[in-house]
Amino acid sequence: MFEQLNRISKKYLHIGANSDRPHQVNQQIFVSNLFALIGYSITFILAISSFIRGNQILGFSLLSASILFFVAHHIHNFQQFGDTLKISTRIIWVSLLGLMIYLIYTGGHENTGPLWMYIVPPVAFFFGGMRKGLVNIGIFIIIVSIMLFSPYEELLGTAYPYEFRSRLIYSFLTVTLLFGFYEYSRQKSFQFIRDLGQKYERQAMQDPLTKLPNRRGMWEHLEYERNRSMRSKENMSLLICDIDLFKQINDEHLHEGGDYVLRKLSKFFVKSLRKQDKVARWGGEEFLFLLPETSEKDAYFLAEKIRESVKHTQFSFNGKEILITLSFGFVEVSEEWSIDKAINRADKYLYEAKENGRDQTMPTI
Ligand code: GH3
Ligand code: MG
Ligand code: MG
Repeated sequence: MFEQLNRISKKYLHIGANSDRPHQVNQQIFVSNLFALIGYSITFILAISSFIRGNQILGFSLLSASILFFVAHHIHNFQQFGDTLKISTRIIWVSLLGLMIYLIYTGGHENTGPLWMYIVPPVAFFFGGMRKGLVNIGIFIIIVSIMLFSPYEELLGTAYPYEFRSRLIYSFLTVTLLFGFYEYSRQKSFQFIRDLGQKYERQAMQDPLTKLPNRRGMWEHLEYERNRSMRSKENMSLLICDIDLFKQINDEHLHEGGDYVLRKLSKFFVKSLRKQDKVARWGGEEFLFLLPETSEKDAYFLAEKIRESVKHTQFSFNGKEILITLSFGFVEVSEEWSIDKAINRADKYLYEAKENGRDQTMPTI
């Protein structure tokens, strides 16, 4: 039973939604389909009942609205028309307004037509958001007030008592205010959750100590640059850098001293790079540099430049000087290699640099 309902809902309410679209758009399509479906079912039933009662004009008007709602629902099957969600919501909105104005003008069945006006605020806010929704409702209230209170009697096809007309507008304004407030808090919560999600997403890709990308963050850059360099046939190089004898720095200057060096070095690396280059904290005291549009020769010179400058920089922590040397391995990424393979190669050269006595870049050029 539940599965059947689910299948029917998928068939009728998810027309036009597909997994390539953002979740929010699919949800909007779902709700616009729901509005359209309810819209054409109710107006169709009311149209039949009007025909049975002999009110042909009301019957035809309701039937026309029903057909328009039906079109708004099924337009998603015709993607060649472009942005079908926009077309669908416009059709729903315009037919709803037309129907409301018609119902207020004629009074509908036994002058109960204006009661349907309360559908307008939720639909307007849902489709237009806070600002556009308020503008659309404002235009609607102005039209309805002119019809109800103008001295020209031709603007109304029926007669409502003054108390009914004034209470209709007051209660409509109250409902609009409440829906507006609801929409405002919904938008605020949505923004809050989205910002929070983005913040955690950023944090999950960043190393908290150095604020450099971590492995996960760097992986995105690596894949992006790899695809780009394949397309543009430009070379791209990777450097892997490891601080020499870092354990000793920790032993001599405590963990805080080690952390201080990691932070200072990270800032220095970022300053030494071009805009398009990226550096990540790849492991404890290991850094990976991504250098797009860089040949192996240029990668080597950059590694040597950084190595020399760090070697001659004195980091001082708690009044004590810390001397640092670095070892580098590098590769120019070949077209046939995977990113993993390129990193493994650079790692092997780094290992060679360590074996050879540290404080050097491998291979030599
Ligand atoms: P090598 O020249 O062979 O690389 O020697 P090493 O001492 O640098 O290498 P080893 O791998 O033996 O030690 C790395 C040290 O880095 C051990 C670990 O405690 C330290 N380390 C890793 N992450 C951090 C960190 O976030 N902060 C601090 N202060 N130390 C860290
Ligand atoms: Mg080390
Ligand atoms: Mg290491």
